[in-house]
Amino acid sequence: MSDQHPHELIVLNPATEEVLATVPAADAADVDRAVARASAAQTGWAAAAPADRARLLRRFADVVDAHLDELAQLEVRGAGHLLGNARWEAGNARDLLLYSAGGVERLLGRQIPAPGGWDVTFHEPLGVVGVIAPWNFPMPIAAWGSFPALAAGNAVVLKPAETTPLTALRLAELALEAGLPEGLFHVLPGYGAVAGRALVDHPGVAKIVFTGSTRTGREVMERCARHVKPVTLELGGKSPNVVFADADLKRAVDPFSFLDNSGQDCCARTRILVQESVYDEVADHLARELSAVVVGDPADEATQMGPLISRQQVDRVRSFVPDDAQALRGTAPEGPGFWFPPTVLTGAAPDSDAAREEIFGPVAVLLPFTDEADAIRLANDTPYGLSGSIWTRDVGRALRVSQAVRAGNLSVNSHSSVRYWTPFGGFKQSGVGRELGPDALTAFTETKNVFISTEGPAQ
Ligand code: NAD
Repeated sequence: MSDQHPHELIVLNPATEEVLATVPAADAADVDRAVARASAAQTGWAAAAPADRARLLRRFADVVDAHLDELAQLEVRGAGHLLGNARWEAGNARDLLLYSAGGVERLLGRQIPAPGGWDVTFHEPLGVVGVIAPWNFPMPIAAWGSFPALAAGNAVVLKPAETTPLTALRLAELALEAGLPEGLFHVLPGYGAVAGRALVDHPGVAKIVFTGSTRTGREVMERCARHVKPVTLELGGKSPNVVFADADLKRAVDPFSFLDNSGQDCCARTRILVQESVYDEVADHLARELSAVVVGDPADEATQMGPLISRQQVDRVRSFVPDDAQALRGTAPEGPGFWFPPTVLTGAAPDSDAAREEIFGPVAVLLPFTDEADAIRLANDTPYGLSGSIWTRDVGRALRVSQAVRAGNLSVNSHSSVRYWTPFGGFKQSGVGRELGPDALTAFTETKNVFISTEGPAQ
């Protein structure tokens, strides 16, 4: 390993910059061992009765539930998440285990009419699945890649992000406590360029589920192509919030639609597109709302927005917001911690980087549009297509615009994005494939078709 990639990861509390833990960083040999153990565990797991696999996953959910508060507190300290959000995130991992457990006995094939015999399809597990997760939602994203894969009969090797390995490691311990076989759900913290690459390149890994930046996702896809390895990519976003003049403006222009998780949310509605007749009203509303946002200690239940994940992320966000930028601004604490104030850029050109590229911090742009066609054109004017909201009381317009916006997850008169029981994923450079929803398990299987002749021996 080079100096650039030391043998350990240093986990900081983003609200204080104090060292919370040091964790050994896996190298290629560790990946090799983990894949071998996972592969051995997978054989027995796939052969087990579906009811037994489902029961173990439900038991895992119970153990997660019993440790919900502990997991949430760990995420508050290790990722700077608000306590309420972190509780929801641990609950999301538990709920996805239960939902996936329900799919084990319903992983149905088909019987297809064929002359001269019976034709049947089977969904067979892939083997070992590699999951690479980012730091912004360490628990849910680890769960979305891993738990449906386990339910479909696979083993999982999960590499969490460098900055946030702690809750994933705890989840792996809880899996063992619940009785999942050793090695079946293996968490391997490490650097992307070392452990991440080794996992992607490993011939024993049958599929990669990658969530992270579009830049890294492109490399992961190229490497997977060399092995003809299937890949699911959940990448960046720059999602529009399209607000027509007839909308309920207070609900539509909710600053937490882009400030939740300090804006480090791939579905954050960071492009606020507003019909020009209500632009001034919306700008005044946002100015009042931003100045009232309570930014501070994420463990305090009164806090509304916590820190960013790292100094590097603060610097990246700042690079999009020059000091003299025309903007509405809230406040943020001074001193230790990775802070950035809630910000809405009001002078950004629609074709500027700030308006088209993912910033991944508490920064949105406010842009006016003239009519429905202009709104659709602006909404689609980014390389991304992950999420978005459409606000209008006109049902026909809501339907037309939701058909015209090229994104995987839209909400009408709502800012919701992700439910574990509905499909999630992106158009364009926001990704390839879908996670969650009723077909989540199928994405971790190969379909096998078997034709069985009914012809008897020649008379
Ligand atoms: P990142 O791409 O830097 O890292 C993501 C993961 O990939 C980390 O675990 C990292 O260690 C690993 N990695 C880095 N280089 C690698 C390589 N060469 N080979 C294999 N693995 C490698 O992204 P990040 O900064 O951690 O996460 C933020 C990004 O994630 C944002 O762009 C955000 O939009 C995106 N994201 C997308 C979704 C979605 O579902 N579409 C959800 C959350 C976050």
